[in-house]
Amino acid sequence: MKEFWSEKAKSLTPYVAGEQPKEKLVKLNTNENAYPPSPRVAEAIAQAAGALRLYPDPDAHRLRAAIAEYHGVRPEQVFCANGSDEALALCYAAFFQNGAAGAAGWFPGTSIPRRVKTPDVGYSFYPVWANLFDVPLEIVPLKEDYSVDVDKMCGGSGMILANPNAPTSIALSIPNIEKIIQKTDGVAVVDEAYAPFSRATAIPLVSKYRNLAVVRTLSKSHSLAGLRVGYVVADENLIAALQTVKDSFNSYPLDMLAQAGAEAAVRDADYCREVTGKIVETRAYTIGELWKLGISTLPSDANFVFARFHDPSAEAVFAALRERGVLVRWFSGKRTRNFLRITIGTREEMDLFLSALKEILCK
Ligand code: PMP
Repeated sequence: MKEFWSEKAKSLTPYVAGEQPKEKLVKLNTNENAYPPSPRVAEAIAQAAGALRLYPDPDAHRLRAAIAEYHGVRPEQVFCANGSDEALALCYAAFFQNGAAGAAGWFPGTSIPRRVKTPDVGYSFYPVWANLFDVPLEIVPLKEDYSVDVDKMCGGSGMILANPNAPTSIALSIPNIEKIIQKTDGVAVVDEAYAPFSRATAIPLVSKYRNLAVVRTLSKSHSLAGLRVGYVVADENLIAALQTVKDSFNSYPLDMLAQAGAEAAVRDADYCREVTGKIVETRAYTIGELWKLGISTLPSDANFVFARFHDPSAEAVFAALRERGVLVRWFSGKRTRNFLRITIGTREEMDLFLSALKEILCK
């Protein structure tokens, strides 16, 4: 019975995240970082805990300054949120929602919706937020080779994509991203959740394009999925729009412990570089071993690979891996159902995965 539910709530289905196992499994299903966060994070959190009596800094000044320094931008160009999920949702509210500040809405004098473009294979939350915020989306099919179709992504009244894309792991080059930004009327949101595992970032373009919002997370690159910290780097004018929608949800976006832990992580850039370097190395090793088994992968710029299966099917391999204590992700969509998304874990975890896979393929 949904008698007290709003029409909007009735139209939505709760997001089902990858399984969080109770038993000891090799967990390669939600793209978490294989390594623990910098040891400085726990120290900073312990110290901050002494001040929990007080409200946190509503503007996260210290954290924004650390992020700005890290990317070579100004603190006024940074907006922090509870994970990039919240940052992305606030981008929909600030830039895309009908009647909001952005360029979405309706063509003047008509009831024809202006559309926000997004690829047909992308982060599964993009259509969910579009539904929640009543944003008309134009779904743009990927090319034959699973890369984002740059020409077809141009010309929207807004645009959102992940670069590298998820779950395909393929990154567009920055000149291609720039072309889409130039040819988008409203705001272009580039979700860089996996960019630290790639060579490409659009952050330097923020000073050039007033309609670009780059969204980042500390969940993957800085091993802080549990702390829930994400942020947006954009022109000050876009940051001001995000502030307006943030205030109507929660005037204290990030709790004090999250601010302190995140600042320590961002300031320990050497640690982050070392960890991402290890993951990139293990990615190359894993791809090499998969190819030896006759399993091809799409070109990966992320901390996961998207591997293609024929016989047995990807779904059957997913289930057989699960039986052997290895969790990966299978998506039932038309373009994705022949693939498994495999997070890059430690070398030991990848060897456990590979030996389970060998057993399944040799059966
Ligand atoms: N964007 C993409 C492409 C993702 O895969 C994820 C992780 N599921 C997120 C954003 C959200 O990450 P978080 O909320 O942990 O920052």
